[in-house]
Amino acid sequence: MVVSSWAEKTAGRRSRKVIINPHKKKTDYSRYLKEIYKLLVRAFGPQHWWPGDTPFEVAVGAILTQNTNWGNVEKAINNLKKSRALSAKALYKIQDKRLASLIRPAGYYNIKSKRIKAFLKFLTNHYRGSMKTMGTQETGDLRQQLLDVHGIGPETADSILLYALEKPVFVIDAYTKRVLERHNIVSKKATYHEMQELFHKNLSMDTQRFNEYHALFVKVGKDHCRPKPKCEGCPLEQLKTIYN
Ligand code: SF4
Repeated sequence: MVVSSWAEKTAGRRSRKVIINPHKKKTDYSRYLKEIYKLLVRAFGPQHWWPGDTPFEVAVGAILTQNTNWGNVEKAINNLKKSRALSAKALYKIQDKRLASLIRPAGYYNIKSKRIKAFLKFLTNHYRGSMKTMGTQETGDLRQQLLDVHGIGPETADSILLYALEKPVFVIDAYTKRVLERHNIVSKKATYHEMQELFHKNLSMDTQRFNEYHALFVKVGKDHCRPKPKCEGCPLEQLKTIYN
């Protein structure tokens, strides 16, 4: 399968000091990550991500959600829907100013309007505006193409790949990094790629599992693992005792 060839490539890259304790066996990390997942899913249940009616809506939502909360994104998406602008064709044609005003609730609306337009240009030029056609591209190549689009970084690209196109790609965000750091699984210096590789190397490349796992990190990050951690009652409190 095309996806696994990319998975194999990424899994084969050497990691640079991501892990705090290099003496632990590889299987330990697999156990950590599985244990975290088990504790989170047991506490919070399925998260039903990503809210969105179509892959295109999910992709636009992934850009809109940069530096803001989901409530604001929903307002922007609703504005686009009410104006019948939430399609590749409609958004491609819409004036920049009009788009910026519709997505205003999501914040940074002039910047995000340019980013959405850049994504639209890419989607139209490479895949005739079709998310379905885009989804047939080999995952690693598509990820690189997305990263070359103005305003699309690794988290946005991977969110599009996982949640809009159902590719088995792990999404790393600030919540994930914070939890991993606080449990001494990665160091402060760990990069996005290194953390992603940790999941790709130690878990099976399972789209549904990756979908749920990332959503659970967001949930625990919002409810407990805030800048000032609320460890009491956190589903991972137990993990701290076991592994630290
Ligand atoms: S809140 Fe505490 S127990 Fe929960 S994930 Fe953060 S550091 Fe771990």
